[in-house]
Amino acid sequence: MTTIWDPSLVSEELLGLTRSLGRPQREMAILAEGNTSQWLGEGRFTVKASGSNMASATANDFVVAEVEPLIQVLENRSSTQDDLTEALDAGVHNSTRRRGSIEASIHAAVHAVDPTGFVAHTHPTAVVSVLASIHAAEAYEYAVYSDEAVVVGAPLFVPYAQPGIDLGRLFYRRLREYSDHNGQLPSLILLQNHGIAALGPSVSGVEAVSEMAVKGAQVRIAAYSMGGVSPIPAESMKSFFARTDITERRQHLSGVFNPETESPIGTHTRNLQTGSGNHG
Ligand SMILES: [Zn+2]
Repeated sequence: MTTIWDPSLVSEELLGLTRSLGRPQREMAILAEGNTSQWLGEGRFTVKASGSNMASATANDFVVAEVEPLIQVLENRSSTQDDLTEALDAGVHNSTRRRGSIEASIHAAVHAVDPTGFVAHTHPTAVVSVLASIHAAEAYEYAVYSDEAVVVGAPLFVPYAQPGIDLGRLFYRRLREYSDHNGQLPSLILLQNHGIAALGPSVSGVEAVSEMAVKGAQVRIAAYSMGGVSPIPAESMKSFFARTDITERRQHLSGVFNPETESPIGTHTRNLQTGSGNHG
C-alpha cells in the first residue's frame, strides 16, 4: 500500500486553503466536490480523501499519496479505473475507509511534471457555466481584462474526459505538452464540462488564481450575453507583460512568472472571431 493515512502530515495551511475555497458563498464546491493537495517532498503529497466536504475538512480527511505509483497506473495502457482506485486506498482507520479522491491523479500529474506547493481543484459555478457552454474551447484564448491576465497568465484548456483514470491520463499528457512548450506549469487549468485546477507555490497564490478564475468567467458570461467577447488586443498584451511593474505584480499575486518563457493569454495573434472596431 503506497497511499497512507497520517493526519499529522496535514498542514494548517492546506486545511485553511481547503476550508476557505469550500465556503458555500464562494460557489466553488458543494457537498464532496473539489480537492486540494500539498507537495511534501520526496515524491509524496497530501491530498483530500474521497467523500469529504471542503468547507468542514479536518486533518482526518486527507491521505498521503506517492506520485510515482499513480503515474505508473496512468502510463500503463492496461490499467483500469479499479487499479487507480486501489492505488489510492489508504485502508480502514477508525472504522472509516480512507481513500484519496478519484481526482488525485490530477494532483499527481502536476507534482510529476513539476512539484508545486499547492493545487486546488474546484467546480466553480461560473467557470463550469463557461466550460459547459458552446464557447468553452475558445473562451479563454484571450484575456478579457488586464488584471485577469496578470493573475492567471496563460491557462491550459483540457477537453472533457470522464473523471478518474481517463481524465488523469489526458490531463497528464496535456500538462506535459504545456510544460514542454512554455518551460513552466500554468497557474490555471480549465477542465471542459468539469471545473478548474489552480496551482502555485503558495496558498495565497492558489487563492488568487481560483478567485480570479471565477471573476474572469463572470465577465465572459456577461460579455457573451451582450453579443460576444471583445478581447484585449494581442499587441497591447505583449507590451503590457514587457513592463517590469506588471511582471512583479504577477509574481506578487500568483507567486509565479517567468517573462522569458511565459506567453500570457491574449498575446498570440489568431484572428478574432468576435468583437471588432474597438481594439485601438
Ligand atoms: Zn472535479
